[in-house]
Amino acid sequence: MTAKLIKGTEIREQILDEIAAEVEEIKAKHGVVPGLVTILVGENPASISYVTLKIKTAHRLGFKEVQDNQSDDIPEADLLALIDKYNNDDSINGILVQLPLPKHIDDKKVLNAIDPDKDVDGFHPVNVGRLMIGGDEVKFPPCTPAGIQEMIIRSGTETKGAEVVVVGRSNIVGKPIANMMLQKGMGANSTVTIVHTGTKDLKAHCLRADILIVAAGVPGLVKPEWIKSGACVIDVGVNRVGEKVSEKTGKKIAILKGDVDFDAAKEIAGAITPVPGGVGPMTITMLMKNTLKSLKFKLGLM
Ligand code: NAD
Repeated sequence: MTAKLIKGTEIREQILDEIAAEVEEIKAKHGVVPGLVTILVGENPASISYVTLKIKTAHRLGFKEVQDNQSDDIPEADLLALIDKYNNDDSINGILVQLPLPKHIDDKKVLNAIDPDKDVDGFHPVNVGRLMIGGDEVKFPPCTPAGIQEMIIRSGTETKGAEVVVVGRSNIVGKPIANMMLQKGMGANSTVTIVHTGTKDLKAHCLRADILIVAAGVPGLVKPEWIKSGACVIDVGVNRVGEKVSEKTGKKIAILKGDVDFDAAKEIAGAITPVPGGVGPMTITMLMKNTLKSLKFKLGLM
């Protein structure tokens, strides 16, 4: 069997077109557009390139985009005051603080200072709690898990009653996607198992999965013989395993590998996400969707 490829790059385009159309409609009817502020502290190159992509995407969608760059010696109290300013700014619907922050700043304190109704990353404990309750309580599902669920839905994979096995129990991927897949509703209603470094027989659990979601950060962890024939495999792992020269730009770029042995797995799975070009492009896409949702909540449209 050669698995169907679930391409994040294609699904991203569909969702961004849907968001852009909604932004146009809201602008015409209500005279406002979603406002997103990205606070970047310091000059971490990976953060800069991630933030640059966010800005580009927000501009493409017609959002109001505010880029607030701060030097890496900003006192914690000043950063908290800055967040307070945006919490009280009516034109801002989403506040994003790019991590990692410098060592003298307490990440938790900063993320918890964001108004939960503008926490489009979905990391505030209030939003984590809302996600756990499920249903109408959910405001902002965290972006990577939301992207994973969207890919599963748009690939036409049946989730109701499906055995879902999630490899990894992180707060940003493993735990939230497991929670989302067990809720009632579309793209969920599954029977979910989480496996992790404390699990005794990873292979036995993975082999039961109709939908296998892997977020371990270990290149090639999941072997083809761990995959049930016809399963839907979502590989969240992004592992830098070397460098190569880009044919397009002539510059050195990272060689990325997923957590699944892709070449062999695609002969067994029914559907599979590639790395790169799979889950990766979905995170910023879902951040934009959450920012639009935030404005819709404010306007009483949701
Ligand atoms: P993490 O390190 O916080 O968590 C990894 C989890 O995997 C842990 O819970 C650990 O118990 C489990 N794990 C690790 N090795 C294991 C093993 N050998 N057997 C069983 N379980 C094991 O990582 P994370 O933040 O959840 O990210 C996981 C991967 O997903 C990384 O490669 C990361 O780069 C990638 N990621 C991609 C995106 C995206 O594409 N947008 C977003 C977030 C994370």
